[in-house]
Amino acid sequence: MAANVITCAFCEGSGRDPFGLLSGLSRCQVCGGIGSVTIEEPCLRCAFCEGRGVHPHQRLTCTCCGGKGMISIQQPTAECPHCQGTGAEPPDQDYLPCVLCKGAGVITVKKKVVAAKEKAKQPA
Ligand SMILES: [Zn+2]
Ligand SMILES: [Zn+2]
Ligand SMILES: [Zn+2]
Repeated sequence: MAANVITCAFCEGSGRDPFGLLSGLSRCQVCGGIGSVTIEEPCLRCAFCEGRGVHPHQRLTCTCCGGKGMISIQQPTAECPHCQGTGAEPPDQDYLPCVLCKGAGVITVKKKVVAAKEKAKQPA
């Protein structure tokens, strides 16, 4: 499994807490102040926060990607049929991440041929 170093989306690489909730000099809670984070490949942009790492409706880290702005997901993927790729439940659901794709906006498509093999490999 390959790990990729990416710029921390939450602080945009500054290493500082973008909201300065504790103090203006607080370290970014996502990257610990170093400005970059690692993510396992394959990964894609978090649909819920649009890759910003910030919860769209709260001054918090995105609950889907943990503030990294990217989500690790198995390929191949297809658009999530539940949220149509937005990664979010309808607005009347209190802006929760989509229950099906968990904010990724896409879901892993299982190939029928390999599905049986993968099932055998994975613990229940
Ligand atoms: Zn950061
Ligand atoms: Zn996110
Ligand atoms: Zn979804």
